[in-house]
Amino acid sequence: MNNIKYKCMKCGTCCFEVHGSLGKKRIPLYPEEVNELIKLAEKYDLKFNVIEDLVFPDILNQKILVLTYRIILDNENQCCPFYKKKVGCIIHNEKPLACQAYPLALKRIDAFRFELSIDPLCNFVIERYEELKNIDLEKLKIIFEDEYPKAEKFYRKNKNLQFEIRRLEVENKIKIPREIEINNYNTFLKEWEREDIII
Ligand code: SF4
Ligand code: SF4
Repeated sequence: MNNIKYKCMKCGTCCFEVHGSLGKKRIPLYPEEVNELIKLAEKYDLKFNVIEDLVFPDILNQKILVLTYRIILDNENQCCPFYKKKVGCIIHNEKPLACQAYPLALKRIDAFRFELSIDPLCNFVIERYEELKNIDLEKLKIIFEDEYPKAEKFYRKNKNLQFEIRRLEVENKIKIPREIEINNYNTFLKEWEREDIII
C-alpha cells in the first residue's frame, strides 16, 4: 500500500461514455470553462456541445441558475470531442478542472453537498480497488500527489458556488425552493431563462 503512486495508464477510458447500469458520464464544466472550450473547439474545428448539469430554479426572478454544465459525448465514438486516438487529450494543458483532478472527483450527496472521492471507473483505480477503497485523506494526498491539489481547487470552487447561492438567498436576491414538485420543476426548466453563476 505504501508504495502505490498514481500513474495514468493513458487508456482513455475516462474520456468515453459509460454504458450499462452506471448512468451517463459526467464531465462537469463551469460556465467560464465552457466558453474556453467553445473557443478551443473552434480552433480545432470540432463539434462541441454541452448540457446543463447542476441547476437551481430561482422562483423569485423566474430563472434557472446554472452552476455547471457537462460535455455531451454523442459523436460516433461516444467520447469527448477533444479525445483523439493515439494522441489522447489534445487540450491537455487547457483541460477543465474536473479532468485535471481525475481520477479524484466530487461525488454529489445532494444539491448543496459534495464530497471528494476516487472515481471507481478509472482503470488504475479498478486495478487497485481493494487497496484504495478505504484509504484515508493523508494516504490519498500521497498516492495522488499531483491530482490532489487540483481536486482541492475543484472542491473549493464548488463550495464557493454554493456559498454564492446562499449569499444571494440571504440578501433576498434569489429564492431557491428546498422542495419542489417534479411537474413544476419541469415546467420551469422548459419556460424560464437561464443565468450562469460565475464566481
Ligand atoms: S477534456 Fe481531455 S481529458 Fe477531459 S474528457 Fe476531454 S479529452 Fe478527456
Ligand atoms: S481511466 Fe484512469 S488510467 Fe485511464 S486514462 Fe483515464 S485517468 Fe488515466
